[in-house]
Amino acid sequence: MQTITKASCTMASFPCSRAKSGLCVWPGMKHLCLRKGLAYGFLRFLSIPFKTLRGASRTLKVTQFCNVSNMSSSVQIELIPCLKDNFAYLLHDVDTGTVGVVDPSESRPIIDALSRKNRNLTYILNTHHHYDHTGGNEELKARYGAKVIGSGIDRDRIPGIDIALNDGDKWMFAGHEVLVIETPGHTRGHISFYFPGSGVIFTGDTLFSLSCGKLFEGTPEQMLSSLEKIMALPDDTNIYCGHEYTLSNSKFALSIEPNNEALKNYAAQVAHLRSKGIATIPTTLKMEKMCNPFLRTSSMEIRQSLSIPAAADDVEALRVIRQAKDNF
Ligand SMILES: [Zn+2]
Repeated sequence: MQTITKASCTMASFPCSRAKSGLCVWPGMKHLCLRKGLAYGFLRFLSIPFKTLRGASRTLKVTQFCNVSNMSSSVQIELIPCLKDNFAYLLHDVDTGTVGVVDPSESRPIIDALSRKNRNLTYILNTHHHYDHTGGNEELKARYGAKVIGSGIDRDRIPGIDIALNDGDKWMFAGHEVLVIETPGHTRGHISFYFPGSGVIFTGDTLFSLSCGKLFEGTPEQMLSSLEKIMALPDDTNIYCGHEYTLSNSKFALSIEPNNEALKNYAAQVAHLRSKGIATIPTTLKMEKMCNPFLRTSSMEIRQSLSIPAAADDVEALRVIRQAKDNF
């Protein structure tokens, strides 16, 4: 496989070793291009090979683009579409060959991706216990002997867990520091994996682009606290979440904040990307702060749209926004 280095960023696309898949896309470049107003030219360029991929991608209902980005000087992230709209992420440390996977909802797409590059799997990282994030654990562990890493709170609910981590724990992935941030609300044991050296966080079903996870096991207080922990990270943090929900999320967000210019622009970009079958992930914290209603509980337009009193606190605002989203 071609190693994508930062020097490659000057190119919009790269040859890819995934036979029949066409192009590798570097998502950071995608967003850079969007910011520079070059989106349409870039996307037109992408759309040419995409048309040849539709047939091959129909079983996944998502693009088969080899979506690889550099997380740091020697770690790559590959988006692996799973199930209907889940993302698993392969982490590959170029220096050591160490490979991890975040939230493998099923094993087959992961095995296929590893086999194409003749790689082993050392670690399985789970953000939470739901089956669409852990469904591939047992088979991948049995096949590769990979160690399963998850929340200590969910040690009884994460299949095959070997290493239980808690809030503030530091864990090393092939020499790269990983900070565990407990982010409950969607589930009580949900954690996010933050790579401070690379400016990357895997947020599972806590923070999506333009939304947050449903409150299955937690309270609005817990979700707000979890989102505030993520909001405290640098604005240029790249956010890799568990699902491709951005287009439908944009419709709700626009319905309650229709005059948010940044949101309108982002929603248009998202619609265009999805019309081409291109992933909208990663997003950035900066973009989410400008557009995601769950990070904008103090927005007067949102509060007026949902009849949230100006004096209500952010917990109450988040509760109402979440309820409205659930019923949207
Ligand atoms: Zn979930």
